[in-house]
Amino acid sequence: MLPLMGKHRGMEDTATVSGRTRVRVLLPLPLAGAYDYAVPAPMAARPGAFVSVPLNQREVIGVVWDPPAEPDPNPVPDRRLRPISHLLPAPPMAESLRRFVDWVSAYTLSPPGAVLRMAMSVPAALEPPTPQAGWVLAPPGGNSRPRITPERQRVLDAMQPGEVHAGAPLAERAGVSLGVLRGMAENGLIRPALLPHRSRFARPDPAHPGPALGGTQAEVGAALRAKVAARAFGVTLLTGVTGSGKTEVYLDAVAECLRPRDGKPGRQALVLLPEIALSAQWLDRFRARFGVAPALWHSEVTSRTRRDTWRAVAEGEAPVVVGARSALFLPFPDLGLVVVDEEHETAFKQEDGVVYHARDMAVVRARLSGAACVLVSATPSLESLTNVETGRYDALHLPERHGGATLPAVEVIDLRRTPPERGRFLSPPLVDAVTATIGRGEQAMLFLNRRGYAPLTLCRHCGHRMRCPNCTAWLVEHRAKRLLQCHHCGHAEPPPAECPECGTEHSLTAVGPGVERVLEEATALWPEARRLVMASDTLPGPAAAAEAARAIQDREVDLIIGTQIVAKGWHFPHLTLVGVVDADLGLAGGDLRAAERTVQLLHQVAGRAGRAEAPGRVLLQSFSPEHPVMRALVSGDLEAFMQEEAAMRRPGHWPPFGRLAALIVSSEEEREADRTARDLGLAAPGGEGVQVLGPAPAPLALLRGRHRRRLLLKTRRDIAVQPILRDWLARVPVPNHVRVQVDVDPVGFL
Ligand code: ADP
Ligand code: ZN
Repeated sequence: MLPLMGKHRGMEDTATVSGRTRVRVLLPLPLAGAYDYAVPAPMAARPGAFVSVPLNQREVIGVVWDPPAEPDPNPVPDRRLRPISHLLPAPPMAESLRRFVDWVSAYTLSPPGAVLRMAMSVPAALEPPTPQAGWVLAPPGGNSRPRITPERQRVLDAMQPGEVHAGAPLAERAGVSLGVLRGMAENGLIRPALLPHRSRFARPDPAHPGPALGGTQAEVGAALRAKVAARAFGVTLLTGVTGSGKTEVYLDAVAECLRPRDGKPGRQALVLLPEIALSAQWLDRFRARFGVAPALWHSEVTSRTRRDTWRAVAEGEAPVVVGARSALFLPFPDLGLVVVDEEHETAFKQEDGVVYHARDMAVVRARLSGAACVLVSATPSLESLTNVETGRYDALHLPERHGGATLPAVEVIDLRRTPPERGRFLSPPLVDAVTATIGRGEQAMLFLNRRGYAPLTLCRHCGHRMRCPNCTAWLVEHRAKRLLQCHHCGHAEPPPAECPECGTEHSLTAVGPGVERVLEEATALWPEARRLVMASDTLPGPAAAAEAARAIQDREVDLIIGTQIVAKGWHFPHLTLVGVVDADLGLAGGDLRAAERTVQLLHQVAGRAGRAEAPGRVLLQSFSPEHPVMRALVSGDLEAFMQEEAAMRRPGHWPPFGRLAALIVSSEEEREADRTARDLGLAAPGGEGVQVLGPAPAPLALLRGRHRRRLLLKTRRDIAVQPILRDWLARVPVPNHVRVQVDVDPVGFL
């Protein structure tokens, strides 16, 4: 029967061994590779199909993977091959996503199944959607006429004969509770019926009028639209000062992506944002531009919505998704545009499980999908700037703020000359500026990138410092909650009445400021001002953040005190003064990118000021006004600063002029961690352009109770780290309770 089956669809993708078809199935488990299964006739299990297969005693859902490039030298014998149990009624995984899974796995040295798990994060979405019940008008009749209250009449008025209405929207339109509907059903006025399957994702209308792009915006917009219309891969770095209209311009590119062209339907677009949960203002902008909301994808989306969204993306029903980094693994069948907004943000790096950088993987996803990729930032990363310089990326630039708004003037307050009063953190010039701003009826913001009341609690008597039992970290006092907290592992304890070391009572004292302490000082200085603290723990969740943004926009707040969440993309038109309480904060420590990070963060914070008619002013409190970071912020010449950064990193082949991978060895047993780290050090690769630094204690030498040691592999740019890492790790046995985590292109150095 083989020759007859030769032209059967699917034959080209499967190998036939003595009459049985075998395929590889990749399972969403951290296994070394795909497993072989038999395809029972007449099933057609083509690559990409979701299938249920037996594994040991269980059933597992996996994906039929592509045949190997080279045949397996030791295949499982035919008679031991177990058959696929059944196919799932879901759209198959597109080839571009399968290649993406393979690519991410190879690049990050993660098992392919661990990456696949991210691409099938909602198993329930593989089952057909359950039809939802709604209500229809019952045919008239029956002899007992039920009572028609005004509420019931409103429901009847809101219903169309023969149409099935979903319960909640119907009740809302009629202004009644769901109980009223149930009562009406009991009385035979309405009856339940199945709702027709309809996508809950409205189609954004590319023809919906957006704002008219002016001047350079129009030119840049046209260039970007042309790249999207080309329907081919390419990366563009879109830069421009905060408020120059980058968002409007890329939303225009999204519209182009959705537009049918040359007889082909529109394609899907993905927008990645670093802190999606906080972007209520962004969603308002999208709604204003397209008339409807996009599909959302982030950790706070409910499981029901996740299921619907995943399915809608797979079926092409969700044309635009805006999401966090994990949205890269959604099953887009025809992705035409990937936008990464605030591309310089470290939030795009995923640090646990599969360690990957979503900005870099977005470029790969776009390439494999034949899509345009747009990286957007007012303060682009040195990585992206370098890719522009070498010609790998195109660049588009918006030089000025929209509507004639000017960039804020930035000044440094030298804390050595005008220090705050003892025990205070705001210097006299900053206090005066805030007083004047509030006095004019404008808004001011104090920025300090530290949650809680104080970062350190110390015994005045013996000098003992309160530290986390599980981490190399001080406990941060959260006075409002009466807790000392570890910001790494979540450990929390009430502040002790006496020093745990020397036993002296009431000797513990708070050292240094957090936003709570700045609030305390602000309350004393400006008791009349309406104050608002914006920090991840005071604004839990998107709704609270949206409400805060609204209150600020509606001028219900005079003074905002915030951590880095205030830096993100907010548009506060009445904010004219930003005070940075500790501009030196990010510069401590030996991180390769500390200066770059600090410039990016403080420039973003500064960009919140003066976004409308009134000019903005930014004051940076610093002990080192001559530092290149402060000079760059004052002059506004970030380009020159980045060139200096490049000049510093280039000679030593530091990223992006060389490659870096970190190995973090960790164990609950300190000696075990040390032994494995030493063994790795002894087996370290070498040679021309290859260097290993360490082992050394990781900066967080103890984290969540695990002792950590670090080795860094540094290579020249033309040498890939992956083969070296694979070979290195294969030569060193790692005991069971020791973990070696690979981090290719590390961004933080914890
Ligand atoms: P960026 O993303 O560069 O910070 P935005 O796109 O957020 O800039 O634009 C800043 C503000 O100016 C927003 O409120 C935006 O709606 C407005 N804006 C920008 N361009 C235009 C335009 N062409 N017409 C009307 N409003 C615009
Ligand atoms: Zn801890």
